[in-house]
Amino acid sequence: MSHYDVIVIGSGAGGGTLVRHLAPSGKRVLLLERGGWLAREPANWDAHAVFVDNRYVSADTWYDDRGRPFQPQVHYFVGGATKLYGAALYRLRAEDFGDLRHHGGISPAWPIGYEEMEPYYTLAEQLYEVHGARGEDPTEPPASADYPFPAVSHEPRIQQLADDLAAAGLHPFHAPCGVRLNERDMPHGHCVRCATCDGFPCLVHAKSDAEVLCVRPALERSNVTMLTEAEAVRLETGPDGRAVTGVVVDRGGERETFTGDIVVVSCGAANSARLLLASASEAHPAGLANGSDQVGRNYMFHNSQAVLALSKEENPTVFQKTLGLNDFYFGAPDFDHPLGNIQMVGKSSADMYRGEKPLQTRLAPQRSLDAVARHAVDFWLSTEDLPDPGNRVTLRDDGSIQLRYTPSNEVPKQRLLHQLKSMLGQLGMHHDHLVPRHAYLKNDIPVAGCAHQAGTCRFGADPASSVLNTDCRAHEVDNLYVVDTSFFPSIGAVNPALTAMANALRVGDHLLDRMGAPRPERTVIQHVA
Ligand SMILES: Cc1cc2nc3c(=O)[nH]c(=O)nc-3n(C[C@H](O)[C@H](O)[C@H](O)COP(=O)(O)OP(=O)(O)OC[C@H]3O[C@@H](n4cnc5c(N)ncnc54)[C@H](O)[C@@H]3O)c2cc1C
Ligand code: SF4
Repeated sequence: MSHYDVIVIGSGAGGGTLVRHLAPSGKRVLLLERGGWLAREPANWDAHAVFVDNRYVSADTWYDDRGRPFQPQVHYFVGGATKLYGAALYRLRAEDFGDLRHHGGISPAWPIGYEEMEPYYTLAEQLYEVHGARGEDPTEPPASADYPFPAVSHEPRIQQLADDLAAAGLHPFHAPCGVRLNERDMPHGHCVRCATCDGFPCLVHAKSDAEVLCVRPALERSNVTMLTEAEAVRLETGPDGRAVTGVVVDRGGERETFTGDIVVVSCGAANSARLLLASASEAHPAGLANGSDQVGRNYMFHNSQAVLALSKEENPTVFQKTLGLNDFYFGAPDFDHPLGNIQMVGKSSADMYRGEKPLQTRLAPQRSLDAVARHAVDFWLSTEDLPDPGNRVTLRDDGSIQLRYTPSNEVPKQRLLHQLKSMLGQLGMHHDHLVPRHAYLKNDIPVAGCAHQAGTCRFGADPASSVLNTDCRAHEVDNLYVVDTSFFPSIGAVNPALTAMANALRVGDHLLDRMGAPRPERTVIQHVA
């Protein structure tokens, strides 16, 4: 049995970031990751391998509310889902931290305000080398520093789109991007600005993911150890249930137990709930830290829609994800409630269509799919889904995940789509024509598209209605923390990863204080304009 100061379970946006923050303290840190290193191989950038063969999707089987099995779109690798993510690194809006009235109900307030998270957003943007431009997005929250790197430029068709949107009186902005691109000096940058970014691993390690920017640097320190292919299967507590006394790990069928003064769970929202529920004991009969019966509840994953518009001109854009639009985030002229965020998604290709709709595209000739792809302009629309205690992760008898989910707040989702549709004519696209895409959404079983999963262990001031306190420590267990997207009490309508990263840094400072270790020195990186 080995003993550590801190054990972190899961190496994605939450866990990987936390370990990077704790590493300089010299404290003994163990990082447990159920996956392995994601192989660097030509298939990283092969749309057929990624979207048709699902090469990097876990082989897990989960079950929906009716007990139907499905393959969830989750990724078990060092770096977690950030290995495949689109690296659109948004801050939540300041208003998202308060009660926000939506058409479908209230999006509840967070127990901390935006101002408490702000310094950590700044730090996370620096750690993850985010590119962006302040002052363009009318909904952006106040920031204490500029983006560390300049906005990624639009390619001509997207610049045209930005110009057309502006001419229509809207405020398109340069989307915050986590790509390690140096447009002024490409030979000395990492990113080659390719078309296989969003949903693909980065073959040249130029994406700002948790493996490259957090786990690898952390492992350079001798006080940090990582075990891969090491799945935490149970957390043990002493008889009074007040502290985790052992982390039971499955390594290739063998069980081992590790001990740590502090244990941090960061397995992704569904798997963190699973681990706590699977750790029921006499002291915690309904699952660890689940006296409030909140573990697993309030699962959210965004009301997302990926749609393709057909440009009248060809769209030869390679790296498309450079533009965002938040003019409808809090409503529209004819709608008083929030609609959500519009952004670009990675440029689509014929192989992606085949992966998304295998039956419908089986007989389609390659050249007609290629023709669609040549004219496609691909949008990603996100509307907030609201926390609902009935939307929850539970465990089946065999320990596998059952995910119950009833959609909420659907009217604004449709309104946002119609809003975009109504503008297409002004944007040089075929009028009134949007084709749904299902890249991450899997239309046969929608809950399988769990890329933006959050909730399940929400933080709050009241132990009766939350799992974690404001430091993300379990109300009922003195040394147990959760730092993945599980802690979200509401999800907003922008991508979740930067918020998980920022919060992991915030919790990291709390843990360093708790251990009497110094916080790392901060330097604010300001890019040269
Ligand atoms: C295709 C795709 C595109 C996306 N695009 C964006 C985007 O552009 N912008 C954005 O903000 N977000 C995006 N996301 C979402 C973003 O990646 C996630 O919100 C974020 O990674 C969640 O962080 P996490 O720490 O909660 O979980 P993860 O990053 O998934 O990390 C969880 C880790 O825990 C490990 N694990 C699970 N169970 C165990 C266990 N029992 N024992 C040990 N290890 C375990 C997993 O293998 C994984 O490494 C995207 C996601 C996907 C899949
Ligand atoms: S666009 Fe850049 S970061 Fe993204 S996959 Fe290509 S090289 Fe990597």
